[in-house]
Amino acid sequence: MRIAAEFRLAVHPISTGNNWGYGSALPTSDCVTLIDLGALQAILDFDPELGVVTVEPGVTQGMLADFLDRGGHDYMVPVTGAGPNCSVLANALERGYGITPHADHFSAVTDLEAVLADGSIHRSALAEAGSPELARLFKWGIGPYFTGLFSQSGFGIVTKMSIVLVRRPQCAKVCLFSLADDKLLEAAVQRVRRLLVELPGTLGGVNLMNRHRVLAMTAPYPDASQLDAHGLMPPDLVEQLGRAYQIAPWTGFATLYGRRSVVAAAQKEIRRAFKGVGSRLLFLSPRQAGWLTALARRLPGGMGERLGRSATTLNSSLELVQGRPNETALPLAYWRARLPQPAAGRNPAADGCGLLWYAPLIPMRPADVRRFVNFARHELPRLGMEPLITLTSQGDRLFDSTVPLLFDKRDSTASTAASTGLEHLIEAGRRLGFYPYRLHVQSQAAHLARQTENASVASRLRQALDPLDLIAPGRYAGRHPQDR
Ligand SMILES: Cc1cc2nc3c(=O)[nH]c(=O)nc-3n(C[C@H](O)[C@H](O)[C@H](O)COP(=O)(O)OP(=O)(O)OC[C@H]3O[C@@H](n4cnc5c(N)ncnc54)[C@H](O)[C@@H]3O)c2cc1C
Repeated sequence: MRIAAEFRLAVHPISTGNNWGYGSALPTSDCVTLIDLGALQAILDFDPELGVVTVEPGVTQGMLADFLDRGGHDYMVPVTGAGPNCSVLANALERGYGITPHADHFSAVTDLEAVLADGSIHRSALAEAGSPELARLFKWGIGPYFTGLFSQSGFGIVTKMSIVLVRRPQCAKVCLFSLADDKLLEAAVQRVRRLLVELPGTLGGVNLMNRHRVLAMTAPYPDASQLDAHGLMPPDLVEQLGRAYQIAPWTGFATLYGRRSVVAAAQKEIRRAFKGVGSRLLFLSPRQAGWLTALARRLPGGMGERLGRSATTLNSSLELVQGRPNETALPLAYWRARLPQPAAGRNPAADGCGLLWYAPLIPMRPADVRRFVNFARHELPRLGMEPLITLTSQGDRLFDSTVPLLFDKRDSTASTAASTGLEHLIEAGRRLGFYPYRLHVQSQAAHLARQTENASVASRLRQALDPLDLIAPGRYAGRHPQDR
């Protein structure tokens, strides 16, 4: 950073550069030098008793999983759908989320160290005044909470981070359920919220996925001959595939963690709560999912093949639920363009996948969820996109929806349409009260243009910490144009 300051070179730090769907390794502005921290792969500290790990930027989910396995440490990796080759540190810094009990990955961060724009090092007050160990154990430290300044910002380059890990519980299960009719969505949202309030800690999180989204995980994208004039799946085809693959209008996927007896009691509560709303309610442990896969493989013909595919996806989802990273979610990026994909080591950016995430927050109220679903169903096809909707609980008051805009990157018209479509969704959604928790690099400028007071604070902080605007300029907290 001292060299960058001398030559006034703006830089953009990446850890593994796999920020797929949000810009991958791309910086927000042009003429920026990438600082690739991927080779910093040390696990600097691990406390097996208290479960705190300190990692460098290049430590991936896969590396952390191997480290924990090798040492026989029964802790979960904070996994995401992005798979084993993504940085644990960068995902937390981006405030990514997953499905293990610490779903909100930045909330598990206790301490970090960063290089500032002038080359000096930021260490937390507790690390300096108390002890580095206390800093690793107590996220709030003492005095102003600076750690948060470094997430979704360019206020520094984070070189190490401490994260508290969750011990693998005695029992981890998933609960699957279907909503046989779209009209049951409101009632399901109400029940989900109640269960999240009543079973904190045991019920990890709940995902609701529409039929389109589940099809994208289970069935190949149909041939061009089956698509409508806009190149999209017509509703009757979606229904027909739903019947063939046994996929209801909505599918719920919830995680349960705890002692066996507690999980068993929670199962009863869940059954009771979903009476008359959820059908085909099923609780599965990893072992049961394994049996199901083996069984489905033995079924003859098309039925066996279809069920086998669903069971395999389910089996690997259960691995994820236990904090073991895998690539089970990545094929989604290849789905619409029907791109060939490797059996492992998938890299949607390098493999040419067209994907932009629209990830708005939605209050967990039935009416708000319905408004959002209607909005997404109406707008996405108009933008030439399949309406693939997932709602993931973020605590008991909010969902985040991750809507992938999938397109064929080889088709320049489709690529431009996807880019303008994303900006349209963010702006139109904003007017309805929905705004993303995280943005693609292309959306940063429009986001900054929506800020005044906030931008002014960011600008003053920037002036103090990075007066030459060197680190990740224009990203989330850019300098106000008038201060440049
Ligand atoms: C199918 C699919 C499923 C996905 N599922 C999920 C999911 O479940 N949850 C989720 O959160 N994401 C998901 N993603 C999105 C994304 O791929 C992941 O979030 C991924 O972890 C981000 O890439 P990375 O870890 O390599 O971060 P990087 O690309 O290395 O970093 C991301 C950004 O963070 C900043 N940054 C990185 N390192 C530093 C540093 N050391 N100091 C300062 N700033 C830094 C930079 O601005 C950088 O551009 C998914 C993507 C796909 C395609």
